Order: sequence, then structure tokens, then C-alpha cells
Amino acid sequence: MTDAASDSGPRPGSEPKTPAASDSGPRPGSEPKTPAAARLVVDCRPLIDGPDRFLAVRRALAVDAAASSVARVRGAAVEVDLRIEAAVGGFVVHGRIDGAWAGECRRCLEEVSGPLEAPVREVFEASPAEGETWPVADDRIDLAPMAREAAMLALPLAPLCSPDCPGPEPDRFPTGPASSASAGDPDPGPGRDPRWAALDRLVFDS
Ligand SMILES: [Zn+2]
Repeated sequence: MTDAASDSGPRPGSEPKTPAASDSGPRPGSEPKTPAAARLVVDCRPLIDGPDRFLAVRRALAVDAAASSVARVRGAAVEVDLRIEAAVGGFVVHGRIDGAWAGECRRCLEEVSGPLEAPVREVFEASPAEGETWPVADDRIDLAPMAREAAMLALPLAPLCSPDCPGPEPDRFPTGPASSASAGDPDPGPGRDPRWAALDRLVFDS
């Protein structure tokens, strides 16, 4: 069920007959509209034994854990559009992943989002090199870990709502320490760590 390609595999040039392969497909930057698969295990034997020159994989993939400290994958899913081809000692996977990201503007902290696009060109082989290539097991490859990593790496490191974002608005997004003076402590004293304010309130209020 999670196999992206059937045992026979799609014919060259055809779309895989999976439920996720809609006619129009998602627009770049939009969230996938189809149920996202948790795994994308593809049986690559048709590339070895059969006449197929490539296998096409196009469907939504769940990427729940794909988030950085400042951005995440919107909808926790991306659309993968990949081709698998046989290569010496393994397989080459190329194509792209599409989705959307959401996060906070690093200056004003407003919610901001944008398209998530990542080109993919990865090698799968029986003895993968750590951090460089991906494993093949029994002529099958799992595209999910690779696609999730690509989604992670495509997240913006420093999101901005616009290139000329003026930055924080002190009235709406106060960035200083909480005003302990208004919370019942009229004079916290010079040089005190504002984090003590909460403790002071505990003492005074009881
Ligand atoms: Zn901003």
C-alpha cells in the first residue's frame, strides 16, 4: 500500500497508477491535497530485469518531523516528483520536492510562509557512504528519509515577511523583560536580574 510503484512498474513516460497521482497535481508552493504516505518504498527490480528505463514516483509524503527552530513544513507533507534510474552499483534518483513552509519572521515575529522547493539528485547503493548516499535493500529503496532530509534542508534559515521588514514593533511585540514594576514590585532595585521578579511576586502575594 505504501509502495509507490507497483511490482510491474509504470511504463516509461507514464504516470504511476497511485491514488496520489492526480491529473493536475498540486501547484508549486501549495500544500499537498492527497493523503501523505509515511514511507516511499520502491521495488526497483523492473529497472534491472525489465525493459523500464526509469520509474516515476509522484505522490504526497508525510514529513511530520521536518522543522527547524524557525520554520516548519506546512501541512507536514510535501509532494515528491522523482525518477529512479539504474546506475552502476545502484540507482540514481532525481527530480524535485514541492511544498510550503511556515514560520516566524526573524525581525517582527509575524507568521510568514512561502513555497518550499528542493531539487533532488541522490544516489542509492548497497553500501552507502554515510551522509552521502542512501541504502538499497533487496533491490528496494525507501525514498522517504531522503525526501524528508531534502525538505529539512530547504527550510529557510532566517525567514523574513518582506526584505524591508522594519523589525519589531515595541508596542505590539515587547521584547524587554516583563515589567515587574506593574506586577506589585514598585522598585526591584538596580542591577537585579528581572528573572527574580516572578519569585518576588510569589513571596508578596502569599
Ligand atoms: Zn517581519
